Amino acid sequence: MNKKGFATKAIHKKFLKKDPHGSLHMPIYDTVSFEFETAEDIESAFLGTKPSHMYSRITNPTTEHFEQTVREVSEAFAVIAVSSGMAAIANLIITIAQSGSNIVTSKNIFGNTYSLFEKTLKPWGLETRYTDLLDPDEIERSINKNTSAIFLETITNPQLEVADIKAISDIAKKNNILLIADSTITPLYFYNPKELGIDIEVISSTKYISGGATSVGGLIIDHGSFDWNNNNKLRDTAEKYGPFTLVIKLRRESYRNLGSCLPAHNAYLQNLGLETLTLRIERSCFNTLKIAEFLTQHHKVRNVNYPGLTDSKYHKISKRQFGDLSGAILTFDMGSKEECFKFMNNLQLIKRSTNINDNKTLVIHPASTIFCEYSAELKDEMGVSENMVRLAAGIEEVDFLISDINNALEVL
Ligand SMILES: *Cc1c(COP(=O)(O)O)cnc(C)c1O
Repeated sequence: MNKKGFATKAIHKKFLKKDPHGSLHMPIYDTVSFEFETAEDIESAFLGTKPSHMYSRITNPTTEHFEQTVREVSEAFAVIAVSSGMAAIANLIITIAQSGSNIVTSKNIFGNTYSLFEKTLKPWGLETRYTDLLDPDEIERSINKNTSAIFLETITNPQLEVADIKAISDIAKKNNILLIADSTITPLYFYNPKELGIDIEVISSTKYISGGATSVGGLIIDHGSFDWNNNNKLRDTAEKYGPFTLVIKLRRESYRNLGSCLPAHNAYLQNLGLETLTLRIERSCFNTLKIAEFLTQHHKVRNVNYPGLTDSKYHKISKRQFGDLSGAILTFDMGSKEECFKFMNNLQLIKRSTNINDNKTLVIHPASTIFCEYSAELKDEMGVSENMVRLAAGIEEVDFLISDINNALEVL
């Protein structure tokens, strides 16, 4: 990824085929299937000798255009768009791992990802090893010959932990293990995943990329750096297809068979989202820092957690990896659940909602919502405190946001 020219590339991405009407936006191909002139043509489409769109669960022109735009801005090897962030993670894990495999990750991961590993995939024989990703030695000790991947989140949510990705990728490379990063909190424009040694990214495009919470979607981005001969399950495919192994396995098996396609309408919206992504990222990160600085000096608030704050223990590593953009989420401690709720109920402008990276600023109490199904002990292990409010900044003028927060704190 090259920050320079990112927006221009996203805005001016050429269509694979010229539009007959000269449309400036890729039209929404809201159709299930596509017509062929002859029986021979449809045969060659099925054989793959003359690739073309046949059926929208497999490929669709609008969705393909979105994938190609992401590929261009991220300078990736291949991109597959799917129906949600969870679909991206599930499709990828199912493709690269099998019964008896293990994934090395951290307990501080997105709640549904944890549930996918523990509740959905464990009964199928996948083991998940939880380590402290801030401790590379522990990661190294957790790896064995059945490890299919190390899975990390670039900035964890809501703990806002920032691991040293280069240190983890050094371990992955040394042991020939795939490194997967969930970059949802820091998508595309934030950093250069290839430079840090990430092989595959998964992103919930529902968040930043959708352009203001317009639609659900996900991305699997293959940076083409992993030698698939090192994957126990994919070795045979790798002999034949080399670097195309993952794409082939997804397109011809998991993605096709699980039916996780991104609808054309969502792809259209998310492609529009890409055009304004840099502006929205810069504005929301700026807003988050201003709000974090305001909260830090407020006497009713304790422990403001945001990697963009110079006194955050993750500031240095965040700066090294993501530059001046530290994400648009912060958390803070109100002393008790009751105080959190009172504060949230006092807000007039900021919305109480579970999403992040909307154009609107949103707040939530993670312990009683996203993590409500977990025991107090597990929440504690996961770093989710009852006293914590999470704020996900939007792109409004920051003065209005600070004024809303200030008023909500004053009447406590
Ligand atoms: C939201 C989120 C997901 C899941 O994405 P969906 O599009 O909601 O399925 C995965 N990982 C992280 C870090 C997220 O924030």
